[in-house]
Amino acid sequence: MIGVDFGGTRIKVAVVEGAVIERSADLETQSGAGPGEILDAIADQVRALAPGPEAVGLAIPGEVDSSGKIWRLPNVPGFAGVAMARELRERLGCPIVVENDGTAAALAEALFGHGREHPSFMMLTLGTGIGGGLVLDGNPHRGAHGFAAEVGHVSIERGAIEPGADPWQCGCGRYGCMEAYAGTAGLLRRFAELGGQANEIREIAESARRGEDAGRLVFEGMGEALGLGITTMQNLLDLDAFVFTGGVSRSFDLIEPALRRTLRDHGFAQILSEVPLLLSGLEDRAGVIGAAHLPGRFA
Ligand SMILES: [Zn+2]
Repeated sequence: MIGVDFGGTRIKVAVVEGAVIERSADLETQSGAGPGEILDAIADQVRALAPGPEAVGLAIPGEVDSSGKIWRLPNVPGFAGVAMARELRERLGCPIVVENDGTAAALAEALFGHGREHPSFMMLTLGTGIGGGLVLDGNPHRGAHGFAAEVGHVSIERGAIEPGADPWQCGCGRYGCMEAYAGTAGLLRRFAELGGQANEIREIAESARRGEDAGRLVFEGMGEALGLGITTMQNLLDLDAFVFTGGVSRSFDLIEPALRRTLRDHGFAQILSEVPLLLSGLEDRAGVIGAAHLPGRFA
């Protein structure tokens, strides 16, 4: 099985067997390269790893319809409207399935991670943005147009950080999205407002672990923001678990107390608020492993 994890800065191509990456290669996502050049580079790399591929699954950081045509790829210019699956099929001569990276990672988690014990779960990727993938009864849910589980843009309005304050603008342009408060830009902004200085989330985590208020309050605010968003999802879906991955999830122990408290304060029923909050063991392999299994699930 061949998976391609198309990220904003690099593209990982891998030959996968079950949950094991047998061989892989990384490509840079060259800035300035057009879709044609990038698709050529992906096809060349696939052939280099696996001449005569039977099928390829591709995970992208954006939304795609069920035919494999891109709706939106915010971090890689020029791809909106590109018929990604058809273009790659013409280059490689085999079936291609393209899916949002959050959904691909959730498929990997469903097959090889916590999904084995918890058949209905939401996966949240904590990083620059807040990505998501929803699995219901073992099946990744894509939505009518591929936009399901855009959890970062669940509105939590104001109040997550300071009641009465103006809502923060999200990268998507709207105000009050969960991602505006719990994505890295929001965390860095909050740390600066509290008098800290940091360029990376790691520095904020170090501040929190030294017991400083600034670092501690940033992660508490993040936990509250996630807690409000997750309360909405949990009141709607009554899931078996929420699974966290992504770089910022390394600080989950700093986030979890406020997240759980907020869930308990706002959940519709106590049983909904006690939902397991779990860390993925697949880490950054989930995207490419899930991508490799997409053709088996969706072809
Ligand atoms: Zn948004």
